[in-house]
Amino acid sequence: MKALYPGSFDPPHLGHLDLIRRAAAQVDHLVVGVALNPDKQSLLSVDQRVALLAALGRELGNVSAVAYQGATVTFAKTQKCTVLVRGLRNAADLDAEFGMAQVNRANGLDTLFLVADAAQQHLSSRLVKLVGAAGLSLDALVPPAVLAVVTPIFARKPG
Ligand code: ADP
Repeated sequence: MKALYPGSFDPPHLGHLDLIRRAAAQVDHLVVGVALNPDKQSLLSVDQRVALLAALGRELGNVSAVAYQGATVTFAKTQKCTVLVRGLRNAADLDAEFGMAQVNRANGLDTLFLVADAAQQHLSSRLVKLVGAAGLSLDALVPPAVLAVVTPIFARKPG
């Protein structure tokens, strides 16, 4: 089974990494799809995100990272992925995911939801940006490779 784990990953954090590890353990191959959204200002470029996710997945042996634009379901088909993986941190995540999952299902692609690990449940890219912008430690939020890339960015940004 080949699965697609799509997201913004801006930046990738320990919650994403936990999901990648757990999803990769269930499938033959996991494609981490970095969605390109030109309308949204991002902390990291898509290339930076793909490189970080590819490096994080390398040790697992069955994970690749690819950027994509447009409908996730269409990208999944071009990658020959038969299922999507998404994470659920709380009820709000489920609410937000429900409609898209129904649309994707109607287009022939089912979604497998993994419940966030309790230790990572509070993590979001938004929280990483808030904490980083406040000049506080990101050690408990992101893997070292991500820390090395985002630290100089936050150091350059005022407040
Ligand atoms: P998106 O903008 O598509 O929601 P994100 O990068 O925020 O992209 O998240 C990608 C996926 O990772 C989503 O399915 C999200 O629910 C999941 N995710 C985000 N944070 C966590 C976490 N702390 N634990 C588990 N899954 C998470």
